[in-house]
Amino acid sequence: MGPKRAALFARLGIRAVGDALRCAPLRYERRQLVALDAARPGQAVTLAGRIERARVGRTRDGAVTCEALFSDGTARATVRWFHQPYLARHLARGARVLLTGTLAPAYPLALANPEWEVLEPGEVPHGGPTLVPIYPGTEGLPRRWFRRLLASLAEGSAAVAEEILPGALLAARDLLPLPQALRALHLPASLEEAAAARRRLAYEELFLLAFGLALRRQEVARLPGLPLRADPGREAPVRDALPFTLTPAQERALEEIAADLARDRPMHRLLHGDVGSGKTVVALLAALRTVAAGAQAALIAPTDLLAEQLGERAVEILAPAGIRVALLRASQRGSERRAALEGLAAGSVGVAVGTHALLEPGVRFARLGLAIVDEQHRFGVVQRLTLATKGPYPHLLVMSATPIPRSLALTLYGDLDLTALEVLPPGRRPVATEVLSPEQREEAAARIREEIAHGRAAYVVCPQIQLGEAGEAEAAAAAEAHLAALRRGALKGLRLGLLHGRLRPADREGSMRAFREGGLDVLVATTVVEVGVDVPRATVMVVEGADRFGLAQLHQLRGRVGRGEHPGVCYLIPGPAPTERGMARLQALVASQDGFAVAEADLALRGEGDLLGTRQAGLPPLAFASHHDPLLMKIAREDAAAVAGEAGLEAGTRARLLLALRSRWTGALAPLRSG
Ligand code: ADP
Ligand code: MG
Repeated sequence: MGPKRAALFARLGIRAVGDALRCAPLRYERRQLVALDAARPGQAVTLAGRIERARVGRTRDGAVTCEALFSDGTARATVRWFHQPYLARHLARGARVLLTGTLAPAYPLALANPEWEVLEPGEVPHGGPTLVPIYPGTEGLPRRWFRRLLASLAEGSAAVAEEILPGALLAARDLLPLPQALRALHLPASLEEAAAARRRLAYEELFLLAFGLALRRQEVARLPGLPLRADPGREAPVRDALPFTLTPAQERALEEIAADLARDRPMHRLLHGDVGSGKTVVALLAALRTVAAGAQAALIAPTDLLAEQLGERAVEILAPAGIRVALLRASQRGSERRAALEGLAAGSVGVAVGTHALLEPGVRFARLGLAIVDEQHRFGVVQRLTLATKGPYPHLLVMSATPIPRSLALTLYGDLDLTALEVLPPGRRPVATEVLSPEQREEAAARIREEIAHGRAAYVVCPQIQLGEAGEAEAAAAAEAHLAALRRGALKGLRLGLLHGRLRPADREGSMRAFREGGLDVLVATTVVEVGVDVPRATVMVVEGADRFGLAQLHQLRGRVGRGEHPGVCYLIPGPAPTERGMARLQALVASQDGFAVAEADLALRGEGDLLGTRQAGLPPLAFASHHDPLLMKIAREDAAAVAGEAGLEAGTRARLLLALRSRWTGALAPLRSG
């Protein structure tokens, strides 16, 4: 194979024969050759015959097409492919082809966008019914060639694939041995056989994931921790100053965390709760207890904006206990930074708040006891923090608002103990959610004016732009243009502010503060406001180009309003030419307020790709496992925990499992402490 093809393969995640054999077909097509004169309009068919002529054409609205005339000797059909003019050249006169598609529902016989394959000279297509695997994204690789390559690998190499799973489990869980599964995946005799192959491979993925995480959990349990027992007296003034009392769910969460902090092995816990469930105050009280026990806490937020907000919150809430809070940001230089660093190293600063700037090698803690992080950078954070402290291993609290089904959470966070904040603080009302067409934009503007007349505030989120370095500049420019347009037009006369990732920290903080305190009516922003931003006086959220956002993102954005005493409203305005799937996402959001229901809809709509959200959790993607099978997830998790805990596990079996982990999860599960 040449380097060009190898690169295309690499893009599909295929580096070795083993990877290729694990390439999951999207689906299988049942094909049976039919004669054109026996086929009915509307029928799904596979046809073998010749292209009699092919040329480039255009539809009435200007789309480029390839128009061909096909004959199988019994009849003729016209064939049209859209947006693929090169096909006309490719299917030069006389090419023998296999076409699969659905005949148009009316005469004359016609096929639109059939799948095509050129038959090789002398090749006689298989007449009987066959199941043909359809592979994802093989762009740049001839489909037929790819399919044949996998078929021949499945015939040859699959048989010698080495089993990874313990034989006893295969028998107990009625799973196909690996060689059979790999063969059946690509050359199934029936759909049942293909399903059995997928089940085996899905189990294997889930098992390995759970096994890796169980090992991680064991490793943590053996690390030396720092038992933190707080003097409860420090907490009273802080609680007295809070504008609310904690809900029973928050109290329970705090007690679970406090019990962990008191142990002599490090906590590894996930605090999981939907948008607005009140995680921040729980985290800050945990930080308070850490300081009250004579150690320091580090709070790591995913963005500068959130670090700033969290810093402000920390100061506000912890001040009555006399705790010094320092904010560290990436861009910070000079005396402010020096003072913060010195305070941390000397131990006079109790709580440090920042982004991953906190993990830079120059940041030293006198006695780091607790690290609290957003779920991003879940792996790696602790290792790097550990480098910054000479003492025992710090306790770790990960916070997540990604609402996922419980079975999935148990799998993805198998290395963590779980605390759920399932009840929202009292007085929360659902955020009325509406999809407006661009022409109805005026309605949103009218509502904004009305709310502002009552002393409230609104967000306008600009259309999503590709991420990346250039992306942020573009997003900033687009936000500025949007602001200017609103100023001249729909929101003329209101006090508008701007927020995007390219603003200087001082300007950004200025905008945020003005918005929070009532100096601004409307904040025009990029997705920097997506997570965590907490301004209770804001009641209207307008999302422009909403169809381009992910469901979870939209749910987060909607969660920015309705946080105070007044109900919130969220307007979703699709951009030009929205896709069906994009519109379906908006409808899913209208249909439900519940993060878990939204997450379910998200998983269902996302289709292929990172179905289980492992990437988001800092884990490698899974190709076969899906959340639709919680039972398989459960047994794989239990089996893996049992195998990982088995003292007498046969050395060969363990070695094979570790090898499989290492080759598939490069980096994701590096040991906690090297050496
Ligand atoms: P999230 O879990 O999304 O991080 P926050 O911690 O930002 O949520 O809390 C959302 C809002 O709810 C904040 O304005 C916070 O002050 C408020 N809040 C938190 N706990 C309570 C409570 N027990 N009663 C009333 N309001 C609360
Ligand atoms: Mg939050």
